[in-house]
Amino acid sequence: MKVLSHSVDVLAATSGGWRIWSLSDGHVDMEANLLRDADDNPFPATVTADDRVRLSVNCFLVTSPDGQSTLIDCGAGGSWEPTMGRLEKVMQQAGIDPASITTMAATHAHEDHVSGLLTPHGHALLPKLEAIVIGEDAVKGFLAKTHLAAFQPLLEPVRDGDRLESGLQVVALPGHAPGHVGYALKTGEDDFLFFGDVVHVPALQFADPTVSWGYDDDQPTARATRSKILEQAAQTGTWIAGAHLGRPGIGRVTRDGAYVYEPAA
Ligand SMILES: [Zn+2]
Repeated sequence: MKVLSHSVDVLAATSGGWRIWSLSDGHVDMEANLLRDADDNPFPATVTADDRVRLSVNCFLVTSPDGQSTLIDCGAGGSWEPTMGRLEKVMQQAGIDPASITTMAATHAHEDHVSGLLTPHGHALLPKLEAIVIGEDAVKGFLAKTHLAAFQPLLEPVRDGDRLESGLQVVALPGHAPGHVGYALKTGEDDFLFFGDVVHVPALQFADPTVSWGYDDDQPTARATRSKILEQAAQTGTWIAGAHLGRPGIGRVTRDGAYVYEPAA
């Protein structure tokens, strides 16, 4: 992967004829006591109810050599804290035309990953959107979001192993939420895995992947998924790209006893 440019909100890169962008939607501060040890106790034990951790909210755009653009997650729009919902502005800053994107591939149906289909001003972020790819078990969660009702006809449910027209392949990442999936990409030069909520607080969870997040639906399964993905990434050199991996939200994993995260830039 060759990084072409890098600013606080935008990383632009190229690999094997593909273009890849990491785009910031903003951040959200959450209760630090959501971090849990393997016995589901707050981690670290000294955390207080007032402590907060800052989570990045990243989206990724991939454009294939033949020009198909897929946005992976689309941020929170105006549905949550005003510290998110910046994607439209950041795309503009990156020189990306929203009308060039016809597919949005969601990692799951939580607010900070799908509500950005609508900008904070209430218009559609992607005016030429044709398909919303989503894990089949995440469809129910999407349908429950009545503010996104206009997008329901675009849903295209997928399962583990399915290949999208663009070449991205669906990877089940169970534990965080129903139908939580990642999207794998092989460019010929590099392997990538784009995911949503495998890691929330990189500063803690690479050193100890058993540290889990209070909003993981099934914590033992989420822990197992995190450990598996980090081990695979460390062994294969796959680039991982995650919504909550900080900025730029894309990097590699090495193993030196514990896992070590090496951001791309
Ligand atoms: Zn999330």
